[in-house]
Amino acid sequence: MSSLSITHYFPFPRVRILRQRVSSDVRRAYLEAVPDKRFRPLCHICGRQATGIHSQEDRWIRDLDFGPARVWIHCHYRKIVCPHCQKIPIEELDLFDPYLRVTKRLARYIFELCKIMTVQEVARHLGLDWKTVKAVDQKFLEEEYGETDYQGLRILAIDEISIRKGHRYLTVVLDYETGRVVWVGKDRRARALRRFFSGMTSRQRKYLEAVVMDMWDPYILAVQSKVPHVKIVFDLFHVVSQFNKVIDKVRNSEYRKASKANKEVFKGTKYLLLKNRGNIRKPKERQHLEELLQLNKVINTVLILKDKLKHIWTYRSRTWAEKAIEEWCRLAHTVNHPSVSKFAKTLWRYRYGILNHCDYPIHTGRLEGVNNKIKVIKRKAYGFHDLRYFSLKIIQAFTN
Ligand SMILES: [Zn+2]
Repeated sequence: MSSLSITHYFPFPRVRILRQRVSSDVRRAYLEAVPDKRFRPLCHICGRQATGIHSQEDRWIRDLDFGPARVWIHCHYRKIVCPHCQKIPIEELDLFDPYLRVTKRLARYIFELCKIMTVQEVARHLGLDWKTVKAVDQKFLEEEYGETDYQGLRILAIDEISIRKGHRYLTVVLDYETGRVVWVGKDRRARALRRFFSGMTSRQRKYLEAVVMDMWDPYILAVQSKVPHVKIVFDLFHVVSQFNKVIDKVRNSEYRKASKANKEVFKGTKYLLLKNRGNIRKPKERQHLEELLQLNKVINTVLILKDKLKHIWTYRSRTWAEKAIEEWCRLAHTVNHPSVSKFAKTLWRYRYGILNHCDYPIHTGRLEGVNNKIKVIKRKAYGFHDLRYFSLKIIQAFTN
């Protein structure tokens, strides 16, 4: 047997490695660690010196693999008396975190792996329980991202993301200028977003200028109550997708009114009407759409309205934009369809957020990329039912 020492590989301060045992197939190694008696024990919470020893304890913890061997350390430690914390905490050993079943360096390795692998993959790779892996990852995430970083926020994009279709939502707040996800809230209610703004100092709030979002009342209320000076901008994409729903309703009611022969023309036009006209490339589809528009004046007008709606967001002058909205609403009322009229009323009521777009030409397009990436995280963050963990993973993914 060689007399080479392996203790250099275990440079844990305040700890002495007493003995080691390696299985005959070298798949497992067991070390025994005891506190180094040359040091007075310290409290792991406050770092101060203990005034007494309460009890002797021990536990098995996993360390990084050593060659082909998985390494377990049988760690002896002491519970101490800390007059400062007024508790009986575990002594500070540098070796492991009292709440985790792995050494600190293995914990760091797990955290790094979890950035690129799923919790399950990491667990399988290291031969650990997925709950252990998740607990380690979450602990690091809490340390790094647990507190909202409000630094330098001038323009925000706020949007909801659906995590279970139509059931559960999260509110995501993005720093518009850097693309950083600043905050993830539990639902899409006003209270959630108000909590976000409440965490800001008054100086940070004053620094905020504009926020782009959907015409969603709870968000609007939260902004108006917490940061009333901030300009609300409504996002073109959201407004158009709401209008697409109106188009669909109009199409359905016109279909019901159509004669049997004309009903044939309606077939297969649902998605043609939702598409951008410029994106319809196939001559056959173009022709089909033209046929429908020739046939039905109401649908034709509604489609013109859609183009005009998008055009409103191109104005840089508030005066001209307001004129365009006025004109749009006038045309909308000529259609004489309850859904279209209702939409026009909404648009008129919320016009301030469209006019603000002249001063702040911002949109939530950035959040679309976020949404796609979140789908990937959802798959990766095994156990995303834990919303806190899921939220932290999202913030992490958009910080680096
Ligand atoms: Zn203490």
